[in-house]
Amino acid sequence: MIPGPFIYHRPGSLAEALAVLRTHGEEARPLAGGHSLIPMMKLRMAAPEHLVDLGAIKELRGIGEAGAEIVIGATATQAELIKSDRLAAKLPIIRETALQIADPQIRAKGTLGGNVANGDPGNDMPAVMQALNAQYMLQGAGGERAVPARDFYQGSYFTALQQDEILVAVRIPVPAAGHGHAYEKLKRKVGDYATAATAVILTVSGGKVASAAIALTNVAPTPLLAEEAARLIVGTACDAATLKHAAEAAKAIADPATDGRGTAAYRREMAGVMTARAVAKAFARAKTGA
Ligand SMILES: Cc1cc2nc3c(=O)[nH]c(=O)nc-3n(C[C@H](O)[C@H](O)[C@H](O)COP(=O)(O)OP(=O)(O)OC[C@H]3O[C@@H](n4cnc5c(N)ncnc54)[C@H](O)[C@@H]3O)c2cc1C
Repeated sequence: MIPGPFIYHRPGSLAEALAVLRTHGEEARPLAGGHSLIPMMKLRMAAPEHLVDLGAIKELRGIGEAGAEIVIGATATQAELIKSDRLAAKLPIIRETALQIADPQIRAKGTLGGNVANGDPGNDMPAVMQALNAQYMLQGAGGERAVPARDFYQGSYFTALQQDEILVAVRIPVPAAGHGHAYEKLKRKVGDYATAATAVILTVSGGKVASAAIALTNVAPTPLLAEEAARLIVGTACDAATLKHAAEAAKAIADPATDGRGTAAYRREMAGVMTARAVAKAFARAKTGA
């Protein structure tokens, strides 16, 4: 399949890109790596008449720090996330997750901004951003606003992003040094979207979990913050009974569809299994400093 006809714009600045989006309204869409949007256009599930390529906009690039936050530009590619020593040191869950997305060719073009703005429940970064309590910086005609990743997702492909807004950056508070992290993803084969996956960020003090955040991928129309599962592990040493309780709490909020990756019952069960594995791995890493 080839996409329907469209006009291609390549603005050199954010202001210019926003102006093109404003001029063409619902007919215009930002284009980042194109690895979600172009396949959807080929399948005729999206038919924008104007594509606004963000690739030449310098303001959207790079990975930096501002105070106690890491700031990742929207067009930073998944390959750049993997290569970044700063992220490996301060937010290792990002490299771990990016390495589980698709394959090297897709990661060379696919961007963090596209992955989180897309609203596809199969995308891996949204749950990670919820576990990290990231903020999405959205720029529109009225200026910039920050929307927490935990409030951004409203339904499958429905988000808080307005048609005339561009996600410019993701701001992530750096968790305490020595924190535990894990992204456990079950997939049928290399390059596949998750059957179920779980992101965990936690801190340990005196041999017990001091704080925790857990989020789930692809077991509902949106990523899910598993608040009860996180609450259940705080104050524990993540013994077998605690892991079982956390898994049950994750399963209780999962609402997957039956699809090519398995039945709803199987995928819900796997949300529990991924949660127990991710919690155990994050806890072990925090204890050993790995
Ligand atoms: C075969 C295959 C396997 C894949 N497997 C996985 C996987 O396992 N896990 C996973 O997470 N992803 C997977 N992907 C998706 C891939 O990671 C995409 O690249 C990514 O989801 C979208 O990023 P992009 O930069 O390509 O965005 P695009 O495709 O360019 O855009 C996606 C959507 O986001 C919007 N958008 C993009 N950037 C912005 C912005 N800055 N502001 C506002 N709106 C924006 C676009 O308008 C569009 O609606 C796979 C893709 C393919 C083709």
